[in-house]
Amino acid sequence: MDSIEAPDPINGKYTRVEIEFKKQRTSDSCAQWLEILHAFGTHQNERIACAMALFVDREMIRPRFMQEMLTATGILRDIAIWIFDRYGRLREEHKLDQKNTVENWEKKLDHGSLLVLHSFWVSKKWRRMGLARMMIHKLVKRVQALRIADISMLAVPGGLATEVFEELLAQNAIAQPSSHNTDGLEAKFLLCSMGFRRIGSTPCFAVRISPGCNEYSINNSAYEDVDEGETTYGISDILWNENRWVHGPENRIGLPFGDWEDQLKLFEQMKERRPILHATVTLPDSDLRNWYCENANDFKTKDWLTTDHMGRNVLHLAVIGIKYQSLRWLLETLDVGTCNELRTARNMRRQTPLQNLYWRLEEIRTTDGELALSDKFEGFGEDAVSCLSLLECLELPQPEDVLPPREVTFWVGRFCGQGSDVLKNLGAKFSLSIPWSTTTDYEGVEDKGEPVNLATVDYNPPSLATAVRHAEVSAAGSRKGNKALLTLKIDRHSSPADSPNRIGRIITGERLKYGCSCYMCLQGVMSYRLRFVLFIQATYLKEMLEQKEATDHYHKFWDMMLTFWSERVSWAAAQSYRESRLRHIRDATIFRAIARVVGPWNELPTISAIRRRLEYDQNNHIWLENPMRSDPAIRTALRVLFEFIQDQDEHAGTGRFGQSMAIYYRDAMELIDPCRNDKEYGFVARMCEVPLNVPFNEFCFVKKRMAREGNS
Ligand SMILES: [Zn+2]
Repeated sequence: MDSIEAPDPINGKYTRVEIEFKKQRTSDSCAQWLEILHAFGTHQNERIACAMALFVDREMIRPRFMQEMLTATGILRDIAIWIFDRYGRLREEHKLDQKNTVENWEKKLDHGSLLVLHSFWVSKKWRRMGLARMMIHKLVKRVQALRIADISMLAVPGGLATEVFEELLAQNAIAQPSSHNTDGLEAKFLLCSMGFRRIGSTPCFAVRISPGCNEYSINNSAYEDVDEGETTYGISDILWNENRWVHGPENRIGLPFGDWEDQLKLFEQMKERRPILHATVTLPDSDLRNWYCENANDFKTKDWLTTDHMGRNVLHLAVIGIKYQSLRWLLETLDVGTCNELRTARNMRRQTPLQNLYWRLEEIRTTDGELALSDKFEGFGEDAVSCLSLLECLELPQPEDVLPPREVTFWVGRFCGQGSDVLKNLGAKFSLSIPWSTTTDYEGVEDKGEPVNLATVDYNPPSLATAVRHAEVSAAGSRKGNKALLTLKIDRHSSPADSPNRIGRIITGERLKYGCSCYMCLQGVMSYRLRFVLFIQATYLKEMLEQKEATDHYHKFWDMMLTFWSERVSWAAAQSYRESRLRHIRDATIFRAIARVVGPWNELPTISAIRRRLEYDQNNHIWLENPMRSDPAIRTALRVLFEFIQDQDEHAGTGRFGQSMAIYYRDAMELIDPCRNDKEYGFVARMCEVPLNVPFNEFCFVKKRMAREGNS
């Protein structure tokens, strides 16, 4: 039980108000990272005020921030989607966006825990006494008492308990800007006076709370946020989540603020006054295109240029709905001047249609339900990529660019010279099916006209000769004869006819599909930074595994590796790995191959690419005698490498080993252009044929707690 001194509303004398705190149980799924805190103010046995806040231990759930927050409901879910990226950092566009706020947030909200103000209420006669402020302050104190120093407090004024403000507004007519009292103007004033500032152009406000801070300062610039907010916001705050809005009235679940009826009214008005925009929002793609065709003659240029209440024109609305056919019709049919004007127009968030589309796709990729979270990402849909290419004026691959896989079957052995010529002429990449076991009866194969018992191996030009030789050897060793059946599958991404344009179009296609923002990603997927880290780490692991002398460095490495591995396998298994010199040599070889694949070879480290590299490397022939056995070893090594790197990441993993490792390459890293794909470990690993399954359970929580307690 705590207490505060507040002026008595009857006689104005300071009197004692008891404050009682309660912790509410949360559902089991969020119990470890979410706490619901209540503060109740009581004066002479009468409840006069209460406040409720949600405490989010962000560091604990960092690697899965978005997934975890999406399991929560209401305000937490909305805040996660609006404000943060998947690792709980402030979204890039809010860091840069200073149009509607006096605060330059940069990285200020990226660290520490979150305290989300959910609601507060003060009994009628006790209002205007500063009680709400004191209650909120007590809640903060309470959280700080848990030895958590680093807190960011968040609130959405429009979403705060409304009954308080309804009454306040009724008494105070000047403060009422519109018919929407849910705008939370009073709450905005209160929050701003406590140091809260708007985050970018969102309806959300935040303040950083430093330890030992007793009162939130009031400064004059605080009110700039409020003033500007009123001219720009209002109904738009309610419609901020345009995703829901655009899906039309039938999709009315979960609207955070405002009155649905008001929105419907707005929608109806739109139909009469701006028929083009209304049709663009409501009709499905092909119907919309037909609608444009049929009604185009009724409209003049200025009709096409109209915007809605959020400054969005017909292009904005078409791309948010990812309506490719309609977008194409617009860009091909409208005259050049109109098109240019539409293309360069900015909505209220200062986004052109193209930026709006990128924003929307990123939203789909990182937040839209559980399905599209980026570890499971499989690239944007065809229509989305086509829309992007239209707006970016980039050429996508044509059907003839992407060759269908072709198969050529022929015999080597007797006709081996002929076979080699065929292979040479085809050039570039192809895969080869080789009858694997030398004991197979090839006569049987011939009779059926199709190869059986085949192992498919991908080969690249460097290993062309090896491939043919391998097949010849197999054939020579067979019982019946001296020939083997080869099935050749030509890779659809390369042929001798490759022209720079064709390759350029393929690269563009991949970049748009996987959302690379640096123009340098390998196959649109693996960014230069990630490649660099993979290269350095693979080299480091190789060197440490090869080391024989027990130096300090060596002991440190094994301490780290044992911790890392024992979380994935048993402690005994980790120990036995440490003892096995043979496995160290084998894995060192694989790590070296990985480094060479992402380095000089410029390829994604897929299992097959690594296998090719190992083959290519003459020195490794000893253990490659039986390549069938090597695949699981490569897979394990590659997975360990990816998990190891992800674990070192302060956002995507626990960041435990990062301190010692990242220091080697942090400076060099700064020189490389960042890309959106930099931290997409899961997604890239999947493209490299090793889906990660990093255990995210007790150990993550325990480690995080340990780390934090160690620090404080
Ligand atoms: Zn990139």
